[in-house]
Amino acid sequence: MKILQKVLDDCKKRNPNEPEFHQAVTEVLESLEPVAEKHPEWVEAGIFDRIVEPERQIIFRVSWVDDNNKVQVNRGFRVQYNSAIGPYKGGIRLHPSVNLGIIKFLGFEQIFKNSLTGLPIGGGKGGSDFDPKGKSDGEVMRFCQSFMTELYRHIGENTDVPAGDIGVGAREIGYFYGQYKRLKNDFTGVLTGKGIPWGGSLARKEATGFGLCYFMDEALRDIGSTFEGKTVLVSGSGNVATYAAQKATELGAKVVAMSDSNGFVYDKNGIDLAAIKQIKEVERKRIKEYVNIHPEAVYTEGCKNIWTIPCDIALPCATQNEIDAESAKILLANGCKAVGEGANMPSTAEAIEIFQKSGILFAPAKAANAGGVATSALEMSQNSMRYSWTFEEVDAKLKQIMVNIYRNASKAAEEYGQKGNLVMGANIAGFEKVAQSMYAQGVAY
Ligand code: NDP
Repeated sequence: MKILQKVLDDCKKRNPNEPEFHQAVTEVLESLEPVAEKHPEWVEAGIFDRIVEPERQIIFRVSWVDDNNKVQVNRGFRVQYNSAIGPYKGGIRLHPSVNLGIIKFLGFEQIFKNSLTGLPIGGGKGGSDFDPKGKSDGEVMRFCQSFMTELYRHIGENTDVPAGDIGVGAREIGYFYGQYKRLKNDFTGVLTGKGIPWGGSLARKEATGFGLCYFMDEALRDIGSTFEGKTVLVSGSGNVATYAAQKATELGAKVVAMSDSNGFVYDKNGIDLAAIKQIKEVERKRIKEYVNIHPEAVYTEGCKNIWTIPCDIALPCATQNEIDAESAKILLANGCKAVGEGANMPSTAEAIEIFQKSGILFAPAKAANAGGVATSALEMSQNSMRYSWTFEEVDAKLKQIMVNIYRNASKAAEEYGQKGNLVMGANIAGFEKVAQSMYAQGVAY
């Protein structure tokens, strides 16, 4: 990097001890070097320096009372990263690993992902180090109410529209929404992922996983392949993983393994998704229960070795940095031909390099998992119109959006002389629209 090295150095210096954030910014800036060469006016206007700095970062105390009447304290975050093309939009993550650096990496990625959808949404992300695991419904509700008691003053249907992420599903969105409404006396589309009777969109729950498979289907066709008859590994067993596994199966693949944060199950006959949904969505139990229903399946403690199972297609859908260089090499040695990122930044920088050098199809998260936020934006449209589309209508729009994202990322890569490099293509295609908007809106913006 020549032009953008200083931007990266300054960013790292200003944000010490945030390795995930550094990783995300490094990857994007490396891709954008040829864009900086082509657009000296953007360099001059400080677009690159400004885009790595969030517009606003909010950190707050979240105190709540547990079932034993003991006061608990967590930390809440909302990073409003970039509003050049629309209101801040991005999920809320509840997981003990959450810290400011993780929220910033996610918010930064979200800027480009949201731009890639072609819909008018800016980038943001939020979360807390609260661990929902093992908590009662009452405890989760009291936490969510306390979190929203601070957050509500910073968000709004035209300002910032949060959604779900790790640890935040329909239950948590319900508690957040109830508290927001109580505080604001306002029934608006301030959150997405809402329940269907109170403003949610059909197909939102399925959207990230389905969208990932629509993206991969289009990309596979471009290299003369499809999901038909392929063996697939899906890590995770949450929202993204479940519906990625469902759509891959509908498209003719056999999903043979899934995981949670404790371990993974391998079922050579193909994973029974009804069993996974019952265990994880309904009973909120561990994935190892699967072998009680299917004794022919094998459970292994620890998640990393899921990537040692031979497959044609790997869909990492759990969390960041779950595929390292070692796992990447094993996947390739076992004949893996395509990797589609359902989770955010699930492959380390070294793993991505290994995949790209090998020439297999590698679909980066910000393009391949954009179906969730795209459908959230469709939920916002329906809320604004006070109207609901059918499942089929939303699903058809989602499919078209994913096909367009693939084509735009692919085209941008080709235009910059890197045909097939979807990492670079997605970063450039996502960035250009935001850069044009920031440039037009002036520096004081
Ligand atoms: P869920 O909470 O529904 O599921 C997360 C899954 O990943 C669970 O199976 C969980 O296991 C596992 N997991 C979480 N953390 C770890 C960890 N540190 N190590 C191993 N496994 C882990 O979250 P989502 O499905 O919503 O999100 C998954 C990924 O997809 C995240 O990276 C998220 O940012 C990304 N994403 C989500 C979108 C959405 O619409 N929900 C949109 C775009 C991206 P366990 O059950 O044990 O906790």
